[in-house]
Amino acid sequence: MMDAGTDLVPHWRSGARWAGGAERTGDVHDPATGQIARQVAFASGADVDAVVADAVLAGRAWAEQSLSRRTAVLFAFREALSRRRHDVAAAITAEHGKVLDDALGEVQRGLEVVEFACGAPHLLKGGYSEGVSTGVDVYSIRQALGVVAVIAPFNFPAMVPLWFAPVAIACGNAVVLKPSEKDPSASMLLAELWAEAGLPAGVFSVVHGDKVAVDALLTHGDVAAVSFVGSTPIARYVYETGTAHGKRVQALGGAKNHMVVLPDADLEAAADAAVSAGFGSAGERCMAVSALVCVDPVADELVPLIASRVARLRTGDGRRGADMGPLVTGAHRDKVASYVDAGVSAGAALVIDGRDVAPDADGAGFWLGPTLFDRVRPGMSIYDDEIFGPVLSVLRVPSYDAALALVNANRYGNGTAIFTADGGAARRFQHEVQVGMIGVNVPIPVPMAYYSFGGWKASLFGDTHAHGVEGVHFYTRGKVVTSRWPHPATRTGVDLGFPTHD
Ligand code: NAD
Repeated sequence: MMDAGTDLVPHWRSGARWAGGAERTGDVHDPATGQIARQVAFASGADVDAVVADAVLAGRAWAEQSLSRRTAVLFAFREALSRRRHDVAAAITAEHGKVLDDALGEVQRGLEVVEFACGAPHLLKGGYSEGVSTGVDVYSIRQALGVVAVIAPFNFPAMVPLWFAPVAIACGNAVVLKPSEKDPSASMLLAELWAEAGLPAGVFSVVHGDKVAVDALLTHGDVAAVSFVGSTPIARYVYETGTAHGKRVQALGGAKNHMVVLPDADLEAAADAAVSAGFGSAGERCMAVSALVCVDPVADELVPLIASRVARLRTGDGRRGADMGPLVTGAHRDKVASYVDAGVSAGAALVIDGRDVAPDADGAGFWLGPTLFDRVRPGMSIYDDEIFGPVLSVLRVPSYDAALALVNANRYGNGTAIFTADGGAARRFQHEVQVGMIGVNVPIPVPMAYYSFGGWKASLFGDTHAHGVEGVHFYTRGKVVTSRWPHPATRTGVDLGFPTHD
């Protein structure tokens, strides 16, 4: 049932809200109450065509604007977003469910990418070599691609679009964002803020929807590149389909992040980190720790430390000061709960059962409390699969080598962490582990905006990570110019030999 006053989240085309021509819509829930809060428009292929056609024209004009003009818009967007950060966070909490502080943190990490993008002119500078041959100079330039698509997941409705859009726009591209249909409203606020910042209409557009909209973007002749973030099966599909249609694609996929704890670690700090990284955002983070790998005899002491902390966590409506909110949808809540059932059936030791949670909330939201398993082993689905919920599994291993082998045997390679007081062990781990982002006594090692974010193996398809220098490269094409200006001294006459430099 929809509440009274239910509204429709429309697309954003040519700098304004746009209903589109399609009839289809999707339900958007308030996960803390379980109510349908609003509907979101689902774009048809024709809707996507219309938005991309506007973006092509707007992108051409935008790419011709001076770097100073483009940067001025980035600075204005930074100010607008900073001013409205609480509104964006509130929209995230209302549709995703994460607690307000966490939503604000997500906006902050997005703002840092905007700040990085304000400096893109520096990164767009080419090289210049004078006199590579007599009277010949060589220089390099980077140019925008045109229209780029960003396809985002539900779990960071503001931060993931902000990983990409500011960098792409600073580089002179037009962006078409396809947010998750589960929490579409934050992207509409971002669109309004871009307009307020003076970004010309059509340079940033939003099309909502499902596979229909995604497929239309992936196969569109005027979309030059696709940045995707989501689950591994869809990331693989997006990568294969997009590249088959001639596009540059970076597709960030799922994760199973391990935190390794060595016996010499500060176990109080490790317990704090495991709880924060395991249950923050109800485990719906691609950098959440879901596998805690304890080198013997760490688990005997660490599991009770974690359990006592988990018992104190307050689960409830994210607007009421809870530590942990609900899961995003009822279907996802049931899926995660079914993993808890499967863990019990497989013989893992259930230390804390989140299925019994009594949340601080009104109505029938999508609740599952923090859940802790001990004695989990590979082969159990709670370890083998990405659960994407508040379920932390402890695995006991006899040695550092066994811990490393476990992490490296996993098909994902997004993030990992090691907790130890031994700098040599940490250094060995960072060198040997097959994972893209590594924390040393830091549980969620999300790189700063001026580094690049991305995993290895089934956590990323494509060559380029998000933001930082790699983001600038992803959104631009290089040219190298070799030039000689007429001068009698540099005239070479006819020479059919291959050009060499002397
Ligand atoms: P998802 O794969 O279900 O959806 C991601 C996007 O793809 C959404 O916009 C969705 O509308 C679209 N989509 C869904 N099904 C599709 C289909 N069949 N064809 C085409 N498009 C489709 O992911 P999600 O549930 O929204 O997000 C959670 C997942 O994202 C987790 O696996 C998480 O690990 C991953 N994630 C990864 C990172 C990272 O940096 N590697 C960051 C955030 C989230």
